[in-house]
Amino acid sequence: MKEKAQNNNPYNICTWRPNSECEVCSIAGRLKCHYKLGDLLHFAGIFWTFAVPAFIGMMLGGYGWYILGEVGFMIFFFTLWEIRILCSHCPYYAEEGRVLHCIANYGSPKVWKYHPEPMSVSEKIQLLIGFAVLCGYPFPFLILGGQYVLASLALWGGIIFFWTLRKYTCSQCVNFSCPLNLVPKEVVDEFLKRNSVMRKAWEEKGWEIGGLGS
Ligand code: SF4
Ligand code: SF4
Repeated sequence: MKEKAQNNNPYNICTWRPNSECEVCSIAGRLKCHYKLGDLLHFAGIFWTFAVPAFIGMMLGGYGWYILGEVGFMIFFFTLWEIRILCSHCPYYAEEGRVLHCIANYGSPKVWKYHPEPMSVSEKIQLLIGFAVLCGYPFPFLILGGQYVLASLALWGGIIFFWTLRKYTCSQCVNFSCPLNLVPKEVVDEFLKRNSVMRKAWEEKGWEIGGLGS
């Protein structure tokens, strides 16, 4: 099919093309390549399995005001840092406009330009550091406050969050270069064949369609 850019789709990414093209796509159903409210609610819902016991424990332990530190970091991380190192490489981010419409970070402002190339090693390390800070922040306060049961529940909630995320989202996520991504290479190759801007950027970084990757 001849590629033709639309007004809201300057990089001609298939996620933002008319759905009719998807009817003949060999990888249709293998990826979360279109925004769905259910996917967004699922992501937001599983995060609270960690956050609810963590925040309750901080309040009961006398460190309630320190929740503002976690909230402040979340705002900084999801609107400025994470969105640059992770989301700016995502097909969802390629849509025209100043606001992100996707299945996880919906509504964040897009202050960075789209980066069709895969994430660099530095960006992957930064992402893992950011996740560690985000998830690790409440635990010193839970322990100092003697909230061992809620600390255990928060830890269990964090494990459930990442396990569920990996199984049901990372296995189908279109941000293929994320260090948590689990999409098989043959599916990535098929997606890149449908998206020439991404394909060119990925091949310039060493990715080989049909080969072993980069
Ligand atoms: S990979 Fe692209 S063409 Fe295929 S189903 Fe997803 S959005 Fe449609
Ligand atoms: S990487 Fe995830 S959170 Fe970021 S734009 Fe893509 S789907 Fe949304």
